[in-house]
Amino acid sequence: MIDTKPNILLIYTGGTIGMIKNPNTGGLQAFDFSNLLKRIPELKLLSCNISTVSFEEPIDSSNMNPEYWVQMAEIIESNYDSIDGFVLLHGSDTMSYTASALSFMLENLNKPVILTGSQLPIGDLRTDAKENLITSIQMASLRKNNKPVIREVGLYFEYKLYRGNRTTKINAEHFEAFESFNYPNLAESGVHMKVNKEALLKPNSKKKLIVHKTLDTNIALIKLFPGISKSVLECIINNNSLKGIIIETYGAGNASTESWFISLIKRAIDRGVHVINITQCSGGSVIMGQYETSSDLKRTGVISGKDMTTEAAVAKLMYLLGENISPNTFKTIFETSLRGEIT
Ligand code: ASP
Repeated sequence: MIDTKPNILLIYTGGTIGMIKNPNTGGLQAFDFSNLLKRIPELKLLSCNISTVSFEEPIDSSNMNPEYWVQMAEIIESNYDSIDGFVLLHGSDTMSYTASALSFMLENLNKPVILTGSQLPIGDLRTDAKENLITSIQMASLRKNNKPVIREVGLYFEYKLYRGNRTTKINAEHFEAFESFNYPNLAESGVHMKVNKEALLKPNSKKKLIVHKTLDTNIALIKLFPGISKSVLECIINNNSLKGIIIETYGAGNASTESWFISLIKRAIDRGVHVINITQCSGGSVIMGQYETSSDLKRTGVISGKDMTTEAAVAKLMYLLGENISPNTFKTIFETSLRGEIT
């Protein structure tokens, strides 16, 4: 008999979901992946074939970096033909950054890549890990007409599937740790699993997967606040290795109109540094020119991050810098939605 069950690959990178308490220090630390599976015998009841792979040394996601992103992308690339859906177990702290980065790195992705984790370790009595893991696997297994339903990088947490590059971690305490302020949920799990079909990405299934592995980290992220120091900003912005800056501005993309600030930005742009305007608000969009306090930024050639999250902007900047895009088209490409990260 032909086995028609989808093949799911579980990739364990680390995070609370697979952590235990160190009896000496009381701190949580990652433990061996095989123990994780032993703790969830329910996995055998799912109608899919599950195989697993683990980082040699699972990490707390605070140690996440682009080298690990490449490692994840390579695992997906090398299993792409034989696997129908990927579930990545990842710490929640930087999960939105990883989800965003993978969305850009995996061009023409046509299969589900779902990141999940938990707020409490899998062994904890009140753990949220089991539901998150089991439903993520079910989401990755969803098929219609012999094709996967989800064909993008998603993030599943506490009954909701989000587009990964639209998410932000909003709570270090609640089980509902993520939010997607500017984009609807892709699916919700209640008594029934409800998929929001209109919200799903519809990639061209004829195009082959291209995996981008060069990420340039010569970037800075600056959050404005009243009283921000000129000399500190000069130190960062005048750094010679800097190729891109994300400025988290106020409201709809507004910033101080003081001449020292505007000329500092202008000098950076003149020497080829890409400057991106992202709002520090959780929801809404940058609209440069709506207020006088953003008109100067617009005039100097600052790029609009529109309604992108900071996490998506960081990942997109690293990705596009790694692609060696010509300076003339960089702004247009950055302001275009590549993987559904902009409305
Ligand atoms: N510190 C942990 C991590 O991000 C928290 C978690 O897993 O949720 O790896």
